[in-house]
Amino acid sequence: MRVETLAVHGGHGADAATGAVAPPIYLSTTFERETDGSLPHGYLYARDATPNRAALERVLAALEGGRAAAAFSSGMAATMAVFQSLAPGDHVILPTSVYYGTRKLLDQVFARWGLTMTSADMQDADKVAPALRPTTRLVWVESPSNPLLAVADIERIAAIAHDAGARCAVDNTWATPVAQRPLALGADLVMHSTTKYLGGHGDVTGGALVSREDDEFFQRVRTVQTAGGAVAAPFDCWLVVRGIKTLPYRMRAHTANATAVAEFLASHPKIEAVHYPGLATHPGHSIAFRQMSAFGGMVSVQVRGGREASLRVTSRVKVFTRATSLGGPESLVEHRASVEAPGSGTPDNLLRLSIGLEHADDLIADLDQALG
Ligand SMILES: *Cc1c(COP(=O)(O)O)cnc(C)c1O
Repeated sequence: MRVETLAVHGGHGADAATGAVAPPIYLSTTFERETDGSLPHGYLYARDATPNRAALERVLAALEGGRAAAAFSSGMAATMAVFQSLAPGDHVILPTSVYYGTRKLLDQVFARWGLTMTSADMQDADKVAPALRPTTRLVWVESPSNPLLAVADIERIAAIAHDAGARCAVDNTWATPVAQRPLALGADLVMHSTTKYLGGHGDVTGGALVSREDDEFFQRVRTVQTAGGAVAAPFDCWLVVRGIKTLPYRMRAHTANATAVAEFLASHPKIEAVHYPGLATHPGHSIAFRQMSAFGGMVSVQVRGGREASLRVTSRVKVFTRATSLGGPESLVEHRASVEAPGSGTPDNLLRLSIGLEHADDLIADLDQALG
């Protein structure tokens, strides 16, 4: 079935007990056993599994084309579960351009637990092999990346990882399974911050992992999830399942608006650079064109005049909201270097735009007046 149909039906049918078409929210933390001790519905205790989490994990696996999925209380809890499934002494390769929190987790938490890490500029897949070590167990990819929209060739990098006996995990948060399906390109694992486009309304925090195989590694991930307990609550799962139903249509609108905004900004005299993989001038455009079916709703720009000039733009917007995060109906603008630590590598004049579901003309008019 196509993505639109899977998004609507992939998680659940009508409720077997009541016929409810919209799924009920099951808050129960515990589930009754039969007289012989068996669990007739397969549920035991809410940290292990709940009906609402099972529905979310089913639809995520369907959308990404994976065998198994695990939902977490945040995107970073999902990322942590991957690193926690490795062992001390294991080596991880990370992209140079990667979500700031992912690098922070490795630097500040997992380095002390014995994971070693090397960065590679994955915009050039040839840079990955020289970073490999005999102990490399994981190549982490993020494409397009946060906040620079760097594009990595997932198919080539997954093949390089596999040749070295390592797994390839892809943070697919910015693309979503509507625009990009890393498992079909050879990746082993997909990570999502469901806080973003999957939830889609800026009202739920969550994360997920989807695995190509229900293999030994994923069983370790499952153990971290259920033994550690950073699980997504029933109402949070329900919100993400609901958000996913409209994801394919929302991504179309986000992409159309972002394309219009990126094209407008690319010709604006006060803009130094526009980072959007849909623009033919983007260095990763041809790879993105091959591996994505849509370029998504995120655009980053560098404003002429440096930090002060870029902050002045954020102070003047009226339709855009000055806030972090992304993937909701409201367009957001963020001076990204301000929320990352000094030395993160994000240019000081960079504004990250999450292009929402307003009309593109209103967004362009707002940016036009804010640029002055
Ligand atoms: C937001 C984000 C995360 C972290 O997810 P949380 O839900 O905030 O924990 C990871 N990767 C990317 C690309 C993100 O945008």
